[in-house]
Amino acid sequence: MAWCPFAKKLELQPESDQQPAIRPTQFIVHSLAAPWTAQRIYEYWQTTSLESHFGLGYEGDLAQYIGTETRADANAAANRRPDGTGAVSIETASNLKHTDPWTDKQVEQLIRVGVWLHQHHGLPLRICRSASDPGYGYHRLHSAWSSGGTACPGDARVDQFRKVVFPGIVNRANGQTAPAPPEEDPVPNMLNESNATDMELTSGNWAGLSFRTAILLVGPVRHHTVVHLLFGDDTPADTVIEGCFYTTDRNGGHRSLYLPIRAYGAGGHQFTSTAEVGAGRHLRFMVRARTPDHRPVRLLHRSVSGPFWKL
Ligand SMILES: [Zn+2]
Repeated sequence: MAWCPFAKKLELQPESDQQPAIRPTQFIVHSLAAPWTAQRIYEYWQTTSLESHFGLGYEGDLAQYIGTETRADANAAANRRPDGTGAVSIETASNLKHTDPWTDKQVEQLIRVGVWLHQHHGLPLRICRSASDPGYGYHRLHSAWSSGGTACPGDARVDQFRKVVFPGIVNRANGQTAPAPPEEDPVPNMLNESNATDMELTSGNWAGLSFRTAILLVGPVRHHTVVHLLFGDDTPADTVIEGCFYTTDRNGGHRSLYLPIRAYGAGGHQFTSTAEVGAGRHLRFMVRARTPDHRPVRLLHRSVSGPFWKL
């Protein structure tokens, strides 16, 4: 199961658990023929047997509904081939006839997802030369990717895919491994806070952590953040420790969670996140420890550090 760290996780059930595994080798982009948000696309998939792995609204709102190593059903024969390989799919908001171009925010997110698929799953940086050739494509590129043919994603977006999106994926994948700072502010600010107050964590409960305060960063920022936690030596080795970055609004409400990161047992553990935090959003971090006998564990020291760029 693989979840893109900068997509909002809206897991579809039962498909996510019941559909077979794939080894992702392709990325196929679609237009939805509906001007929907990523949230609305999720609600729609709950009413049908079809779904894509990702959904993307006009404002760049990106959600993931199915792990990229599970089959999703948007591309006919490419969903999962007999050899177990398959395509990762994204549906993107469009007008009702999918004749409009992608917005700048959509283009940026398509590039980011494309780069992530190259880095995480090793997709080769080329446009698919055949229906089963690993690489990047759009729905109508190969007839085997639809049943009965399709115009999706529309002429304007095919043009953008060839001139902007795919070259953008190649350039960014080759040119950098971390997010680029904004050009006008190349020198990052540094986050560096710690708290040595012992804290007892009851087994199985999430606890928001305060470093200097509970708010690590205030958006809009791009950041690369490392949380380091030190647990007492008496922590059982099979204790499951999960760290989770999340964002909230100014009042601590409207949580949006990143994927929890797992660690085990006593000693020091690191949790990292590289992402953008939107305007008015607050970055926070919480931890959960689960011991086999439900004993509490002691958190001895916590620190947070890393560069960030104000956007
Ligand atoms: Zn399509």
